[in-house]
Amino acid sequence: MAVGLKADSAYVTAQHQFDVAADVLDLPENVRNLLREVKRELVVHFPVHMDDHSIELFTGYRVQHNISRGPAKGGIRYQAGLTLDAVKAMAMLMTWKCAVVGLPYGGAKGGVDVDPRRLSPGELEHLTRRYATEIALLLGPEKDIPAPDMGTTPQVMAWIMDTISMHEGHSVPASVTGKPLDVGGSVGRDEAPGRGVTYVTLEALKYLHVQEETPTVAIQGYGTVGHSAARLLAEAGIKVVAVSDSRTGIHNPKGLDLEALDEHKRVRGGVSGFKGGEDISNEELLELPVTVLVPAAVENVLTEKNAGKVHARLITEGANVPTTPAADDILNEMGVFIVPDILANSGGVIVSYFEWVQDLQAFFWEGEEINTKLHHIITRAFYEVLHTSVNKRLPMRTAAYALAVQKVANATIVRGIYP
Ligand code: NAD
Repeated sequence: MAVGLKADSAYVTAQHQFDVAADVLDLPENVRNLLREVKRELVVHFPVHMDDHSIELFTGYRVQHNISRGPAKGGIRYQAGLTLDAVKAMAMLMTWKCAVVGLPYGGAKGGVDVDPRRLSPGELEHLTRRYATEIALLLGPEKDIPAPDMGTTPQVMAWIMDTISMHEGHSVPASVTGKPLDVGGSVGRDEAPGRGVTYVTLEALKYLHVQEETPTVAIQGYGTVGHSAARLLAEAGIKVVAVSDSRTGIHNPKGLDLEALDEHKRVRGGVSGFKGGEDISNEELLELPVTVLVPAAVENVLTEKNAGKVHARLITEGANVPTTPAADDILNEMGVFIVPDILANSGGVIVSYFEWVQDLQAFFWEGEEINTKLHHIITRAFYEVLHTSVNKRLPMRTAAYALAVQKVANATIVRGIYP
């Protein structure tokens, strides 16, 4: 059924996944129509002074899908070729992600069509401050709270926070999460998505009764999510046999020396050429004979073309939307257990929520408290999704969506239609 879906629209895919859950829930037509559209979409075109004195025009976005359960929450992505369609899809995904783990937030996403690697630090700051100003009418601690995503960093979040604070005339740390610790960031935010990926992977391996003495993992993407997932999975006794960046992957069936790899990456700017393994392509990485596969880079990497070649027993989706609906059908048919993105990578938004709460209270927690609370929330959500999946005989993704969509539908119905 999903095979004929228009694969080039992320938003059509997001709506399809919503429709599947809406069918399971037998959602009333009027609620269904409301939830399958985004609430607000802002497109901005803005100029930036470049170092060579030229002025370049950029396009940015901020989309809010739904705010029935609380302020909008979602990352800001700097990515060449970013489209409104992709941002709308990710905003919808954020609504379900916040709902499935029980955070009092709606969903949003934003970003700029730019490759941040081609900007100098000064240009990056100018672009960030101007973009933040352009979308500022939507932002604020009670309205819409951005966070980092692909291509953005804690430094970028600090500039956004400072820009909003300058407009307000006082510091507003709760306006953005994923900030550096010095300006109201939370301990553990950087590694939170990777930590969440680790927690749900360990629970899934337990559920699957994996017998191997040392399970293995291949991780696509070695950035914020992939890097911390690799370190924490290795600490938990899982052998990391492959990782990759946008250029290439590196593979060693005996396990990668992550410390040496990090040093290599620091010096060489990427994982390619690392002496402790063999270079492989990103496509080959996905097909390796491993226990666990963690796509933690970009969307739509598992498609109808390669899904049948996946050997992993478990896929933990560190990235957002790494699996197309057609690939999903094939993997489900093969019996591959998938921990879907809205659950698997929710560690980032969970600790962002902690950061927002700490900023609002101006009272900060220790790392141990943060990790304990993160573990509690994501593990509880994992078992809620698992029980729904088992009891209703649904794939994990549909079960996660059904739980999330039901919560948002309940909030929408009980609030009623204004005026
Ligand atoms: P990042 O920019 O820190 O790292 C991305 C990594 O993927 C880099 O190693 C990059 O080289 C690699 N990469 C880029 N293009 C690739 C390609 N075509 N093929 C293979 N590798 C490629 O980004 P991130 O923040 O780690 O985000 C990765 C994914 O996780 C995204 O889907 C993002 O939406 C999702 N996510 C991020 C967070 C967060 O808090 N950062 C939270 C939840 C989900």
